Amino acid sequence: MSNSVFQPGENFAAAMDDRDPLKRYRERFFIPQIAGGDCAYLCGHSLGLQPKTAAGYVEQELEDWARLGVEGHFRASNPWMPYHRLLTEQTAELVAAKPIEVVVMNSLTINLHLMMVSFYRPTATRHKIVVERGAFPSDQYAVQSQIRFHGFDPATSFIELTPRPGESCVRDEDIESLIEHAGEEVALILLGGVNYATGQAFDMARITRAGHAQGCVVGFDLAHAAGNLLLKLHEWGPDFAVWCSYKYLNGGPGCVAGCFVHERHARAFDLPRFAGWWGHDEESRFEMGPDFRAMRGADGWQLSNPSIVSLAVLRASMDIFHEAGMERLRAKSVSLTGYLEFLLREKAAPGFSIITPHEKDRRGAQLSIRLHQNGRALCQRLAEEGIFGDWREPDTFRVAPVPLYNSYQDVFRFVRRFIAAIGPNT
Ligand SMILES: *Cc1c(COP(=O)(O)O)cnc(C)c1O
Repeated sequence: MSNSVFQPGENFAAAMDDRDPLKRYRERFFIPQIAGGDCAYLCGHSLGLQPKTAAGYVEQELEDWARLGVEGHFRASNPWMPYHRLLTEQTAELVAAKPIEVVVMNSLTINLHLMMVSFYRPTATRHKIVVERGAFPSDQYAVQSQIRFHGFDPATSFIELTPRPGESCVRDEDIESLIEHAGEEVALILLGGVNYATGQAFDMARITRAGHAQGCVVGFDLAHAAGNLLLKLHEWGPDFAVWCSYKYLNGGPGCVAGCFVHERHARAFDLPRFAGWWGHDEESRFEMGPDFRAMRGADGWQLSNPSIVSLAVLRASMDIFHEAGMERLRAKSVSLTGYLEFLLREKAAPGFSIITPHEKDRRGAQLSIRLHQNGRALCQRLAEEGIFGDWREPDTFRVAPVPLYNSYQDVFRFVRRFIAAIGPNT
């Protein structure tokens, strides 16, 4: 790639912000403050910022609860009984799925377990689960506990995709060849859409094709992909996907999570599943009968009535996503992250390297910077100045300019302070 589209000076950042068709969206979010000014918050991969409209959406539900009590389930301005439906269409749009394929429910690790209950069905000869090395710890725990739950041993059933010696990211062709060679023993391929540590985006269409060709079930954890990449879940065809809503989706800490089950399983009522009343056929849910009848589609995996307050916040954010549009957001994101990479490479200070792939199709918003020494202290110093990324032991500083609310000037400030901070230590 030629970097000539970018220039090193601060004026360039200001000019890019002026020209940015999405710049007004920044005003729709609360930007954390320090000494009376905006922080450079490149931390939307950990916790997205609060939409200013969130309080109004929540207030509405609190008022209806105060006014109506239990009647709010049916008589609130947005009745709570079907409240999660208000998110179905926009969620489907966000991940390019059909409405029947998506639901917001529970939280991420719970959804991962629920999906494995239905879609990890090991046999004596096909019992392995493939994950990427360095998957988010919760995913590793969940997967290993499912393997044990079925009476298998992670030592023989847990397969990690590992980069080649000297490399930080797994090559797509290596994933494909592992699946081709060992696929017959693999029950489930479960990868992050974007790995949280390296920022690598996987080729989900290709992995799904390769997995299905070998008879494997394919699922994705999209915690770092939803609201970040342009997803095409229905077309790519994985069996399931799960994601949380508090990172790029700005639903607030612990917000209700997302789940995708491909349409081909919409009427798979014979699949094993853990059931709860909210997944029961709506027509007869309140007859309170003893026999579980699952709803069609992803809805049939719901367990409990969801937190309306939490869904209200998510609605505020999803309305903004709908308005801005994922295609425009992704286009800005490619440019912003490209600019971040350009500035970091332009300074080319010793003491750090970028481990995230350079190709735009192999990454989302995030760049992971490996710091060769004193990284933790450096990140703490930056945070005290209001320059935010996220530090992961032992050596990785993860920064993500988010196209909804970050500016080119945020990126410029970040790099200037980062380079100044790293200088004296190296
Ligand atoms: C953030 C994240 C989680 C967190 O799980 P919760 O159940 O929401 O606490 C799990 N997996 C991945 C890949 C994540 O990025």
